[in-house]
Amino acid sequence: SEYAISLLRSSSLSLENTISFIDSSTDSRLSYSDFIKQVESLSFSLHNRFGLKTGDSAFILSPPSLQISILYFSLLSLGVIISPANPISTIPEISRQISLSKPVIGFATNVTSSKLPSFLHGTILIDSDDFKSMLTIQPGRVNVRVNQTDTAAILYSSGTTGKVKGVELSHRNIIALTAGFDKVRMEPVEENPPHPIALFTIPLFHVFGFFMTIRAVALGETVVLMERFDFVGMLKAIETYKVTYVPVSPPLVVAMAKLDVVEKFDLSSLTVVGCGGAPLGKEVSEKFLSRFPNVQITQGYGMTETTGGSYEDVRAEETKKHGSVGRLSENMEAKIVDPDTGEALPPGQRGELWLRGPIVMKGYVGDNEATVATFDSEGWLKTGDLCYIDNDGFLYIVDRLKELIKYKAYQVPPAELEQLLQSHPEIADVAVVPYPDEEAGQIPMAFVVRKPGSNLSGTEVMDFVAKQVAPYKKIRRVAFISSIPKSAAGKILRRELIDSIQSTPSSKL
Ligand code: ATP
Ligand code: MG
Repeated sequence: SEYAISLLRSSSLSLENTISFIDSSTDSRLSYSDFIKQVESLSFSLHNRFGLKTGDSAFILSPPSLQISILYFSLLSLGVIISPANPISTIPEISRQISLSKPVIGFATNVTSSKLPSFLHGTILIDSDDFKSMLTIQPGRVNVRVNQTDTAAILYSSGTTGKVKGVELSHRNIIALTAGFDKVRMEPVEENPPHPIALFTIPLFHVFGFFMTIRAVALGETVVLMERFDFVGMLKAIETYKVTYVPVSPPLVVAMAKLDVVEKFDLSSLTVVGCGGAPLGKEVSEKFLSRFPNVQITQGYGMTETTGGSYEDVRAEETKKHGSVGRLSENMEAKIVDPDTGEALPPGQRGELWLRGPIVMKGYVGDNEATVATFDSEGWLKTGDLCYIDNDGFLYIVDRLKELIKYKAYQVPPAELEQLLQSHPEIADVAVVPYPDEEAGQIPMAFVVRKPGSNLSGTEVMDFVAKQVAPYKKIRRVAFISSIPKSAAGKILRRELIDSIQSTPSSKL
């Protein structure tokens, strides 16, 4: 697949000495010209020594590292299917993913490899001397033919609403994604903006990190990787590397807006925080902006099924549309439909978002039933997200259809209540879930993490919300806990909270 290499070639020609990736745990840096040499060298070794060929699938279990970025581009250029998993996955989770992607080879670290079964071509340790030698031994090129419709990656969805699904993305999906990047490049606010330095707080195995890796290389940015994410480490890295841009999920915006430790670091290099993956409340972004008046928050919306893309803020001034996740990529089509009838709805009306276009997945691997249920007969992908589009084409996400709380005849979006509660000065974090109720069907229940030292009561939480919402949206039950369970991509794991209610009945307030 020539585009993976040509993407790199164009970056490495114009940016020869520019740093492509920095591993912040070891402070090792890789220039774009070395990056492409190592990608080509590794491709050559994998092809000649291990016989990897187009259509083979490779399972990857590793935290972010320079080696992983090199490996991604090598596999893309060989047409070998990238199938990356969360390095902290359990063995049963890994087995399920392997049964879907059917890898012939594994890539792991000294630490993660013990969780892998044996593969036809074995497991390669990316932190071994042997792997290092494969990066430099052979500068030769490999000639392989990859079709656009061939599978490039099997990425796993987050499993927020059920079991993770293996999403099959084609090379065409990735080409279409890269084609959109020029259009979405933020217009510089200053005349000579500093070279973009992005800090990845997001995991590379998730579509958000995968998308951002390809995008950073396509745009010739410098990427700072964190082997293990921690909040203070992130602040330190922004200061040390003079980071200009951080892609994040909403919990990080909350933390940056609220935590005192932020004040200890010089974050003046930061110009943009790009948020995606879950709804970001207006209250939270306002709080963030009052602390960081010189930083813009941009939003993007995507899913594993759309290669991570679809809607994004295009220009700085447009981010003033509060709460919107931006406008549709040029090569995509979108409509809002009534989820019961499939009928298209006019601007401003809430319904399910349907998407169609070249970044939409081939399907779910090994699950034809789910694939059939997700597409309509004309190829529209049903996102499962409740949204509306305004007259200017800006998308607003309300919540997931599956997560709406059914109170009597009403539907209550938990995200809206969470955003409201996030603005409470004594609340550190919060999640809202349905609680079974004989009379109403379900009532909204809040799980609240109080700030240290706060004595906030359940009644105060309920009153705070009741004053600001229609009566049917009131919080009717509250529990205090020490932290909200979240996935690696920063999504609230409501299922875990719901299951915890069922196992430990608490008294109604
Ligand atoms: P699963 O499909 O396995 O239940 P998941 O939907 O969380 O998990 P992903 O593909 O990682 O898996 O996430 C896509 C979803 O994330 C979208 O369908 C949407 O609900 C949510 N999302 C993504 N970006 C945003 C955003 N900017 N604002 C609100 N929600 C978002
Ligand atoms: Mg999903």
